[in-house]
Amino acid sequence: MNSDFSPKLINNPLGDPGMMVEFLREQRALQFDLGDLSSIANGELLKISHVFISHTHIDHFIGFDHLLRVIFGRGKTIHLYGPENFITNVAGKLAGFTWNLADRYSESVTMEVTEVHADRLIKAKFKAIDRFRKSDEREEPFIDGVLVDEGGFTVRAAILEHRIPCLGFALNEKYHFNIRKDRLEEMGYPPGSWLNELKKCIYEGKPDEYLLQIPAGKNRSQQKSLGHLKKELVLISPGQKISYVVDTVYNEANKTRIVDLVRESDIFFCESPFLAEEEARGLERHHLTSRQAGIIAREAGVKKLNVFHFSGRHTFRTEQLVQEAEEAFRKK
Ligand SMILES: [Zn+2]
Ligand SMILES: [Zn+2]
Repeated sequence: MNSDFSPKLINNPLGDPGMMVEFLREQRALQFDLGDLSSIANGELLKISHVFISHTHIDHFIGFDHLLRVIFGRGKTIHLYGPENFITNVAGKLAGFTWNLADRYSESVTMEVTEVHADRLIKAKFKAIDRFRKSDEREEPFIDGVLVDEGGFTVRAAILEHRIPCLGFALNEKYHFNIRKDRLEEMGYPPGSWLNELKKCIYEGKPDEYLLQIPAGKNRSQQKSLGHLKKELVLISPGQKISYVVDTVYNEANKTRIVDLVRESDIFFCESPFLAEEEARGLERHHLTSRQAGIIAREAGVKKLNVFHFSGRHTFRTEQLVQEAEEAFRKK
């Protein structure tokens, strides 16, 4: 499928959970959960702009220190999202280190932290130059589950049950634009950075009358309207939807929330720690079984199911977990 986003799990399905979504046209990535990050190169970690944490059980948050170590001193602002009590969790992590030299760096790193509640978002900043003291605490409305809404995509969250609140996430690419290379040549337009500008204008919803400068060879350039260029050069197709759900219980109310969140995803990453026969265990631990993951995927009409976060007890039964999930998913 055409998409600017490429998702991958950060570990094998028995390892700590986490998913990275890379932007194919930018040096940028979104990270879902921070399990053990040792399999990811520093260069990849430096691309992360936003981190979405389902909940702060240790297997989902142990990578925070690793990420901080890599981004510290790089002048980045990183956005983190998590459930109830998340700001306290982040503050606690940061309080575990000594920062007396941090103010020597002019802009070493800033964390913009958002805590998701049913009726509101609580935000706070932690800046290295302030030795990571909490600042700028404020509240914003939480509307339609939207955490991030940028030109090209949104990230939504649903609050799910895991004996504690646990967030499920869905990333929606709004549209996908392809420049028709054949038309480019036909019309005598040169390739180049103006094409990025063209895409940016479309993402930002600029009006069709907006004029773009096109370089047309030696010392000449021409102006064309955005509407004209869209018609001549751009193919618009629906974007990709990628969803991520871990550590949650199977009951009617919770299932409805998950189905609503992940509906019609192109790819649905779903936990499946337990075998189909372990329903009682799943209920007790507030986790899904393989079959339940499959049922949810089927009801939500997703295109592809990718189960992971298998229990360590099933090291030698991973194929069975995949098979059971796939059977429930494909069942007519
Ligand atoms: Zn877990
Ligand atoms: Zn958990």
